[in-house]
Amino acid sequence: MRPLVLSGFMGVGKSTVGPRLAARLAVPFVDTDDLIAREAGASVPDLWRRDGEAAFRARERELIARLLAEPTAQVIAFGGGAVTQREVRHLALEQATLVTLTASAETILARTSDISARPNLGVPTVLAAEPGDMPARRLTRIEDLLASRADAYAECHGAVATDRADPDATVASIQALAARDAMVVPLGLRSYVIEMATGDGGRVAEVLAEADPSHVIAVTDANVARLRGQALDAILAKVRHTKVTLPPGEMHKTLASVSLVWDAALGAGIDRRAVVLAFGGGVVGDMAGFAAATLLRGIRFVQVPTTLLSMVDASVGGKTGFDHPLGKNLLGAFHQPRAVVIDLDHLATLPARERTAGLAEVVKIALVADGELLDAMERTAPALAAGDPAALAPIVRRAVAAKVRIVRDDEQELGARALLNLGHTVGHALEAYGGYARYLHGEAVAIGTVEELRIGTRLGHTPAALAERAHTLLARLGLPTETAAGELTSAWAFVATDKKRVGTAIRLPVVTAAGTAHVERVELDAARKALDARYGAGPAG
Ligand code: NAD
Repeated sequence: MRPLVLSGFMGVGKSTVGPRLAARLAVPFVDTDDLIAREAGASVPDLWRRDGEAAFRARERELIARLLAEPTAQVIAFGGGAVTQREVRHLALEQATLVTLTASAETILARTSDISARPNLGVPTVLAAEPGDMPARRLTRIEDLLASRADAYAECHGAVATDRADPDATVASIQALAARDAMVVPLGLRSYVIEMATGDGGRVAEVLAEADPSHVIAVTDANVARLRGQALDAILAKVRHTKVTLPPGEMHKTLASVSLVWDAALGAGIDRRAVVLAFGGGVVGDMAGFAAATLLRGIRFVQVPTTLLSMVDASVGGKTGFDHPLGKNLLGAFHQPRAVVIDLDHLATLPARERTAGLAEVVKIALVADGELLDAMERTAPALAAGDPAALAPIVRRAVAAKVRIVRDDEQELGARALLNLGHTVGHALEAYGGYARYLHGEAVAIGTVEELRIGTRLGHTPAALAERAHTLLARLGLPTETAAGELTSAWAFVATDKKRVGTAIRLPVVTAAGTAHVERVELDAARKALDARYGAGPAG
């Protein structure tokens, strides 16, 4: 079991619920404030007075890192302000299940009458000067602090309100939450969880019910409707909904398809409490997400990816959009989902070629962000190529976790997120040149990855052995790694219209070691020459 961290404002019930939860799980309970006081030989208010808040936070940060590094299962109650530190939050989200307990400001005021032990409810001289006003002033102080910490508290695996719940009910809610073993994309109030669930869609139905939608617009495509329709119907059984079935495939990732979603949603008279459910591959997810971003200036959406590619990549991170004749994904918006539920069972009907294509994105993520994932893929390549769910499950989880870290740090692709474009500059050009019919997206990315790594080698960034290693792995997974003669050079014209072009240059991810990469500004001419050197001929355009 991962450690269970209880976070939240003072007075929400951490020290009541924590020991009960620990007893139920038969694991130790630790309160970080108590431990700090014990180790420092001084009370928390004394430490605040003596050393100041910054020193206290540093002490707290160091202690939490130590606790989370311990291999034993435990329940840890964080001090109320611990998660205001980004580093602490991210560490807890990665190493533990982080649950925020919540309560109203009034409840908190009633539960924290003794402010002598609560340095943060301070302003003691003011309070002393105007004793009659104390509760009102303290309530305001609590409300202010809650508001200033709302973003930090929202970054959690789940929140449990304790105002009226008895502690045992709270313990049960926390256990259910921990059992889901979700991953979190921490983006303040727009944070969301990615769960790996299996079965009949029951969990998706629960997620939808928690969102309490006025209407669900379920977007899928004709293939998915035919092969996974039963699961979708089970999900929708208890909600008011409208189903939109789009024509399948990249060639239909168009404004016309997006319009079908808009028409259905507006025709159903939705309001802003409606939720779009994207049930399909990356094409459905990108367009459903875009429709959600634009309907009534933005409504919520939930992703249920049904292809491997959309599970490991497209469903996570909030990039939505559609294609234009001049290039892929040239129109779109950033709009984060409310939740993502990954169910590997959906892969049972996915054609093997599609499944294999999805593995290209996993190799890409491994190359730029997780060297151990690359090792793991090499160890299990035959099972992955065969689509063995037992081999896929840990790889999918790890790939998603790596993508989450990248999105967390650079949601709008101003920096590190551009690393995920490895293989995509050349890949998109190949797709566009082939009229989106010759290659599947993942296949084009596989070839693009091989080519871009070679460009990286030519430009002196990527060790040749690493480029070769990636090439070998992609081939072992059953992916294409070469183009027909002349195809790449003919496709080059499409690089000029790529989103990643900046003036006369492209922003090219270059991999310097397994799992380590950065973005280089590479002049189009230089990139072209690197390809020329390999193909001998000067590309057109
Ligand atoms: P896709 O959605 O076209 O799905 C591939 C094919 O599989 C389709 O024919 C579909 O009908 C079918 N299918 C889907 N699920 C199935 C299932 N469970 N059983 C049987 N058939 C099934 O393509 P994709 O590969 O999932 O996604 C590619 C798209 O994702 C591209 O448009 C790409 O631009 C986009 N993408 C987006 C992001 C992002 O961050 N938003 C990231 C990577 C890729």
